[in-house]
Amino acid sequence: MSAISEIEKDEKNLYISWQDGHKSQYAFRYLRENCPCAMCRDEFTGEKILDVSTIPLDLSCQRESVVGHYALAFSFSDGHGAGIYTFEYLREICPCPDCASNSSNNRTAYA
Ligand SMILES: [Zn+2]
Ligand SMILES: [Zn+2]
Repeated sequence: MSAISEIEKDEKNLYISWQDGHKSQYAFRYLRENCPCAMCRDEFTGEKILDVSTIPLDLSCQRESVVGHYALAFSFSDGHGAGIYTFEYLREICPCPDCASNSSNNRTAYA
């Protein structure tokens, strides 16, 4: 169970401090690329449908909100905001080197 103790953001990045002390930094463009909604990702295979080249390079986030204490939702500056990012999912896509090497084992199970 992943829990968040603090969320911060600046123009380009979201910063999450996890309750276990881990810190994650996500560029909003990265979050947008990994949007888990049904328009961007196939619900069954988990495969990306989204064409990432259509995402503006200077993408920012206008608003973020907590969904039912288990997820975050973002209103991106390109007008998209359908994705519900569960804390678990956010932790899984944490781009830091530590998590990237850990999750390479899980990736296939997830797909
Ligand atoms: Zn989406
Ligand atoms: Zn990490």
